[in-house]
Amino acid sequence: MEMKLAILSRAPRAYSTRRLRAAAVDRGHTVKVLDTLRFGIDLSGDAPDLLFRGKQLSEYDAILPRIGNSITYFGTAVVRQFEQMDVYTPNTSYGITNARDKLRATQILSRHEIAMPATTFVRDRADVLPAIERVGGAPVVIKLLEGTQGIGVILAPELKVAEAIIETLHSTRQNVLIQRFVAESKGRDIRALVVGDRVIAAMRRVAQGDEFRSNVHRGGSVEPVALEPAYEEAAVRSAQIMGLRVAGVDMLEGEHGPLVMEVNSSPGLEGIERATRLDVAGAIVDYIDNQVAFPEIDVRQR
Ligand code: ADP
Repeated sequence: MEMKLAILSRAPRAYSTRRLRAAAVDRGHTVKVLDTLRFGIDLSGDAPDLLFRGKQLSEYDAILPRIGNSITYFGTAVVRQFEQMDVYTPNTSYGITNARDKLRATQILSRHEIAMPATTFVRDRADVLPAIERVGGAPVVIKLLEGTQGIGVILAPELKVAEAIIETLHSTRQNVLIQRFVAESKGRDIRALVVGDRVIAAMRRVAQGDEFRSNVHRGGSVEPVALEPAYEEAAVRSAQIMGLRVAGVDMLEGEHGPLVMEVNSSPGLEGIERATRLDVAGAIVDYIDNQVAFPEIDVRQR
């Protein structure tokens, strides 16, 4: 079916946006890349409405939100408005908000038997040392709640250093997660690209030299990987629990299988398409097309 799709993005020239746009055009859809910050949420009429660049927005069948970290609040408000107007979105505002905050995501996943690295969150100075001990002592990983691309993820080698780092961050009003260092993962992690209820592509990222963070932005390299069923299942279930139908799920390779670290609501496509040579953008567009054509098959999470 031909659909009219809006990609919400502030980066029309970025690889992911260009690929998604081209995939939609190739399939005969009408597609527009709309700058998320140029929307106006209009609550003055009888029904919820949206303006774009000050004018009434035309009708769309579906949106694909690509909401950057720096505009989460406004971006999710725009997505929520589309939801109120019954426009299909694979990732709901609720899912995007949940995924954005590492603590909130971990809290939600923790009651669903998703294995994750032991994690704890405290605020009082007196609770810091016991918290570090609780997740296995030093070396220990300290994470800022809203870091990306590996920035704000620290490996503290010793108890005293860890305590000092955490106290310093607390004194500047930053909240941090304290997490067991999964040494057996050896600077490697798995990124699984989930679309609907399937992993459509997966890669392993390997950290450079003695760096423990495997982010490509930290110099990590990538290779395609065939996932074991346990990894596939952990990735798909995590995305579903978070309420995301398009997601990049990051997992460490623990001693007993996958340990879910993070669920990304706007996964980058460049690394994974290059590593796997798969048409990830096409799979995402086909999925949205299917949901628009046969909405009854997917129970939409609101
Ligand atoms: P970001 O969202 O900034 O990418 P992550 O939480 O994904 O932050 O961490 C960045 C990288 O650091 C991960 O890709 C992984 O390689 C490494 N890492 C994160 N947490 C742990 C951990 N608990 N044990 C071992 N390595 C970790």
